[in-house]
Parts: sequence; C-alpha cells; structure tokens
Amino acid sequence: MYLEVVTLNGFKSFAKKSELEFSTPITAIVGPNGSGKSNVAEAFRFVLGEQSFKSMRGKKGEDLIFGGTDSATRSNRAEVVVTLNNPVIEGTKLFPVEFDKFNITRTVYRDGQNEYTLNGAKVRLRDIQEILATANIGSSGCHIISQGEADRILISGPLARREMIEDALGLKIYQFKRQGAERKLINTEDNITRVESLRQEAAPHLKFLTRQMKKVARSAGLREELKVFYAEYLKREDVYLTHHKQQLLDQKEEVETSLTDLESKINTTKAGLTTGNQVAEHKQLIETEEKMAALRNEFRQVAREGGRFEGQIALLKKRLEDKETNVQKSATVVIDRQSTRGLFDGLISRATVAKVSNSAEKLRLELDRIITDLKDFLNNIEASDEKTSPANEEMELTALIKAKTNLDSRLDELAARETKLNHQSNELRTVIESKASENLAAERILFKLMTEKRTTETELTNLERELTQLDREQAEFKNEVQTAERVIGQSALDYHNFTITDKSGQAITDTLILAEAREKQSHRLRNLEKIKIRLEEFGEVSEDLEKEYHEAKERDQFLERELTDLNQSMVKLNKLIADLTAELNRRFATGIKQINTEFNRLFTLMFDGGGALLELIKLPPKQNRHQSEAEPDNEAEKDKRDNRGIEIKVKLPNKRIKGLAMLSGGERALTSIALIFAISQVNPPLFIILDETDAALDEANSRRYGDMIEALAKRSQLILITHNRETMSRAGILYGVTMGSDGISKLLSVKFDEAVKVAK
Ligand code: ATP
Repeated sequence: MYLEVVTLNGFKSFAKKSELEFSTPITAIVGPNGSGKSNVAEAFRFVLGEQSFKSMRGKKGEDLIFGGTDSATRSNRAEVVVTLNNPVIEGTKLFPVEFDKFNITRTVYRDGQNEYTLNGAKVRLRDIQEILATANIGSSGCHIISQGEADRILISGPLARREMIEDALGLKIYQFKRQGAERKLINTEDNITRVESLRQEAAPHLKFLTRQMKKVARSAGLREELKVFYAEYLKREDVYLTHHKQQLLDQKEEVETSLTDLESKINTTKAGLTTGNQVAEHKQLIETEEKMAALRNEFRQVAREGGRFEGQIALLKKRLEDKETNVQKSATVVIDRQSTRGLFDGLISRATVAKVSNSAEKLRLELDRIITDLKDFLNNIEASDEKTSPANEEMELTALIKAKTNLDSRLDELAARETKLNHQSNELRTVIESKASENLAAERILFKLMTEKRTTETELTNLERELTQLDREQAEFKNEVQTAERVIGQSALDYHNFTITDKSGQAITDTLILAEAREKQSHRLRNLEKIKIRLEEFGEVSEDLEKEYHEAKERDQFLERELTDLNQSMVKLNKLIADLTAELNRRFATGIKQINTEFNRLFTLMFDGGGALLELIKLPPKQNRHQSEAEPDNEAEKDKRDNRGIEIKVKLPNKRIKGLAMLSGGERALTSIALIFAISQVNPPLFIILDETDAALDEANSRRYGDMIEALAKRSQLILITHNRETMSRAGILYGVTMGSDGISKLLSVKFDEAVKVAK
C-alpha cells in the first residue's frame, strides 16, 4: 500500500491523537452524522498542502484547530501526519526522496502559521507539493471528493474543470516544472537586464580606460622608439663632439705655437730696427742745424755791427781829414750808411704797408709814422753835428777801430764754429741716410711677419670661436643627455655602448659618423623633439591605471560571461518551457482521449445506454488561464499554449436533455462518478478518498458503484466515507467514528455488521 497511516492530532474534532491505518485496498469510514468523518477527508487535504480553507470548511487556520468543548480544552495547534511508502517502480523511486517510507507533517498554529516537515525536517510547502506531484497527488483534484462535491466537476467552469482533469492526469508536475522554468526565465531575464545595465554603466569608464591603455601602449612604443633614436643621436653627437674638440684643440695648439714663433720673430726683427738711434741722430742734426742758424744769425748781426763801425770809422776819418784841410763845409753832415739804411728800410716797409692797406685810417697812421721817422732822423743829424769835436772824434775813431777789430775776431770765431757745425751736420746726415736704408729691409720683413701674425691671430680667434661654439654644443649635449635620462630613464646613459647599424644591419663606424653631414644630426634632434612632444601629449599615466583597467576589464569579461551563460540558460529555459508545454499538450490530448473512452463506457454502464463526452472549447480571452502566469516570450510560444476549457456533453438514453443543468440529482451523481472514475482509470492515483459520493444512489446504482469501486481499487487505494451498506460491504477495513458528549471524535475499528449499526 502506498498510503500507510494518517494521524490526526488537534485537527478539528479530533482533539486527541487518532491514527488510521490503511492496510487494505478499500477502507471505509463510517459513523453517524456529525461524528467527524468528513474531518478525516479534510485532514488528508490539509496534510497534502491544501491552501483553500473553504475546501476544508474553514475561514482561517485557526478553524482547523480543535476549538474545545464544555468538557475539553482547546488545542493550540492542529497536526496531521501522513505516512507514505516509497517503493521503486520501474527502477525509480515513486517519490523523489531517498527514503523508502516517509512522513509528511503539517501543523497549523493559532496565529495562522503553518509548518511543514519531511521526516521531521522543516521543508517548504512547495517542496511537499513537488514531491507529491511526482506521484500525481495533490491537495485538491479528483482523488479527494468531499461530501456533496461529487458533482463539483460538473458544476465547475470549463477552465476549472480542465485544471481538475490536468491535475488528475498527473500533469501538475509538468505545470510545476514549467512554472519553475518560467520563474527562472523571469529571473534570468531580470538578471540579463541587471547585468546588461551593469555592463552599460561600466562601459564608458572601461572605454576610457581602454583608450588610456592604448595610449599607454602607444606611449610605451614611442618610448622604445625614442630610446633607440636617442641612443643613436647621443652616440653620434658624442663621437662628433669628442673628435671635433680634440681636432680643434690640436689645431689651436699648432696655431698658438706658430703665433709664439711669429711673435718671437717679430720681437727679434723689431730689436734689429734702429728707429731709436735714428731719432737721436735726427735730434742731433736738428740741434746742430739750430746751432748753425743761431750762429749765422749772430754772424749777420756781428757783421752788420762791423759794417756800421766801419762806416762810422770811415766817416770819422773823412771828417778828421776835412778838418785838417780847414775846409768849412758847415752845410755838410756825415751820416753813416747803417742809419740811413735803417731809415730807408723803415720808410719802405711803412710805405708798403700803407700801399696795401684798404683803410684810410691805417694809411694816415702809416704816413704819420713816416713823418715822425723823418723828423727824428733830421733831429739826430742836427744833434750829432753839434757834439763833434776833433779830439772827441779821434777818441771815438780809436774806440770804433778797437770795437771793429773785436767784431772781426768774433766773426772769425763764428765762421770757424759754423764750419765745424756744418761738418757735424753733414756727418749726421750721412749716418741717418745709411740707417734708413738698412731699416727699410727689416721693416718689410716685420710687415710680413705682422701680416702673418694677424692671419694666425684671426685663425686662432676663429678656432677659439669654434671651441666656444663647441663648448656650447657640449653643454647642450649634456642637457640633452639629462633630458633623455629624465624621459627614458637611466638606460639613456648607455649610449656609449650603443651600436648604430645601417639598413643592412652593418655597424656604422666612427669614421662614417664623422663623415656624415651635420644637418642630419639637427634633423635627428628635431625628430626627437617631435617624439617627446607626442609623448608629452599622451600625458602622465597614473600607476594604478593598469590595475584599474585590468579590474574593469575582468569585471566586464565576467559580466560578459555571465551574460552568455544567462542567455544560454534563457535559450535552455525557453526550450524547456516549449518542451514542457508540448509534453503537457500531448499528455493532455492523449489523456482526454482515454478519459472520453472510459467516461463514455462508464456512463453507458450506469445509465444503461446513452453517451458522454468531454469536449475542448475555446475560452474567451478573459478566461485565459495563462493570464496570471508568466507571459510567454513570443507568438510562437503563445501558440503552443492551449487555452481551451472542457465542456461535458451527455446524452441520456431515451431522453432528450440538453446540458448538465437538466439532470436530476441522482443523474448528476452518476455522471460525476462516471467521470471521476473514468479519470481515475486513465491515470490511477495512489489513493482516492470519496466522501459520501454514493449518497444519492439507489440500490441498483449502489451495486454498480460498488463494482466500479472494486475495479478502481485494483490500481488505487480507496478510502470511502459512507453510509451506504453496499459500499461498506466492499471495504476490507472499516473505521467507525463516534463523537460523545465531550464533542471529541473517536476512532474505532469495526466489523461490517457493527459498521452498519454505527453508520446508522
Ligand atoms: P455527516 O455524516 O453528517 O456528514 P460527519 O461525520 O461527516 O457528518 P463532520 O462534518 O466530519 O461529521 O464533523 C462535524 C463535527 O466536527 C461537528 O460536530 C463540528 O462541531 C465538529 N467540528 C468541526 N470543527 C471543529 C473544531 N475546530 N473544533 C471542534 N469541533 C469541530
């Protein structure tokens, strides 16, 4: 038996722990009205996870707990335990749990809280539902028919009817699976949206970081390029500057040596020149000439004085001779030539001045002076004539002769000195002339040397300028090395060891470096500057960038993988949903077909003819049973869903009735039973609980009912709550339910005869 025991404790009227064992295919529960039989059926619904209190004749959980009576206190909770066997059928356990036998317990507390356990371990309602659904057991459905609910399947609408049949056909498990897949699909879609939005949110930053990383890569490439360019440039520059400097220094030394040579030659040549002596001789000559001029001047004065004396002497001699002859010539006066000459020279000079003068004043002045001179001369003649006497004149003559003799000897002396000076002058001239010709040759050499010196000095100046320029270039080179070190690091200083190669990979020697045109280096420097500017344009890159980029990238890749996984799961889930829908539709279609065959057979059997049929009808949109469920993704998926309900068509023998509403109570009961049994035949549930389904049957139908029950019991355990004697007679075990004055239901195992009595 699949259903082994059910235990009620505090459930409704079963205040005390009551246990029902189901060891035979058919168990009947009998008892008087109101004893609590239906409570047992409801206890089954309860423990199997029923959520509708209405179907358990309550409004809330508390209504299910023993509420107490005058003589018994109320319970705090209601608990029902069902023990199920879990045999292996066709290699698989009946229920998807590892146990061979297990208990499901449901407890409800007064606060309305429910608790489910599986073998004592707390589980969720959903877990219970899924376990039971695997074996086609549910809280509701055709396997538990409550009292007065036999025709529920007839009363229900097409949609509810379909759900009941689906439930009975064991399609619940597929629906659960599909709902689960749909829930997962919604979650997956939500996750896709979430992951996509996370990716989108992070995308601009990642894009920025990627751009930065590209910059870093380009910058690194450029830096490597710069390293090689720098190494070549610095090496070439170093070779050029070192060599060139040495060359200039050598040249300078050479030029300096030749300059020193020239200077020494110049000094020697200068020393050989007689410029100083010549000056002395020239000076001597000038002095001699000056002395001679002075001498001649004196000579002229002395000669003039001598001449004057001579005139006076002659005048005096004449006068003395005249006196001796007594010839009185008082009108005659002796005038010496000197004074006459002096007078005339003066007059001529004044007249000449007057003649060339333009001024009348000046002319007058000169004439006045001439007149004065002439008057003075006449006065002098008159005065000298009065003074002269023969004795005085003798004395005067002697004195004059003496003075004249002195003057003559002075003239001789002067003449002798002039001759000597003249001689000296001639000698000096000869010396000066000879030395002048000697200096001319030396000066020529000196001029040449000086010219050479100037050329050499210019050469030296040029060399020094070149060296200064080279020093500047070396300073710039030093700066460039520092810049290179700053830009590309210490490796920049290894340029010495760098081997420059040509396009064919051949090393370029220093000779080739030196032979290269200098502009090429300038071109290289410009190129370096350009690269540095480009590097600067890339800007400073933060050290954390790479880490940040990798983290962002990894996160993006993680999200991408997650997205791929989610999309794959979505595809799988859609397929699963489609497969489950297809399977549901297929099983439903087959099930309906099989039910129809059985339904018609049982109906015909019960009514001795006629016919019955389940018909699928299209539901209007508002009744669309999938509206509350997850909306399928696409039209194709929607199409797979079957939105049809079930209508029941019956035809009674010899009657023309249309519609179920026109059936009598008994006919309704028979039709319901036929349908319930048909469903149960097609997909036999583990157990069926029928609460007074047979109440409305007459004796003949009770027998047919009994036969059908026996047929059903071959494949399902039956628990029948009944007052029907015929039904009781088919049961293997009979439980009597009684309720005493304490209002508590009690269970007792009874024999058939007792049962008939108890039932009454
Ligand atoms: P019938 O043969 O007339 O259908 P029954 O044997 O099926 O009767 P039930 O309907 O199962 O009887 O039992 C109803 C009884 O259970 C009533 O007496 C009712 O007072 C009692 N009962 C229902 N709920 C509770 C509760 N929460 N606490 C105590 N007693 C309860």
